[in-house]
Amino acid sequence: MTFTFNNAKYNGLNPNQCPHCHNSIEPHGVNAFMTRAEDGSGLCYSIWQCAYRDCKRIFIALYKPGPNSKAELQGFLDGTPIGPNWPPFILRLNSNFN
Ligand SMILES: [Zn+2]
Repeated sequence: MTFTFNNAKYNGLNPNQCPHCHNSIEPHGVNAFMTRAEDGSGLCYSIWQCAYRDCKRIFIALYKPGPNSKAELQGFLDGTPIGPNWPPFILRLNSNFN
C-alpha cells in the first residue's frame, strides 16, 4: 500500500490478517489516504475488504509514516478482539457459584 501526501510517498506492508474473522488473508485494497497535523506528524489510513468468502467485511488499518519512505502498520480502527483459546473441557464446565 502506497500513501501519497504533498508529492511524498510512503510504502507500508499490506495487512495479512482480518481484524474481524482473524483469518490470514490477502485483503483487497479499497482506498488509502494520509493526513498531516500542524506539528508535522502524519497518519495514514487504508481501507480494506477481507478476502475470506464468509467474511468479506471492510476494515481500516492505521499506519504511521516514518523515515526512508516507510509506513509502519499501527493497528486497526475496528474489528473484534481474539478471545482466549480455552480447551473444550474448560468451556463445558458449569459452575454453581452464587
Ligand atoms: Zn475477515
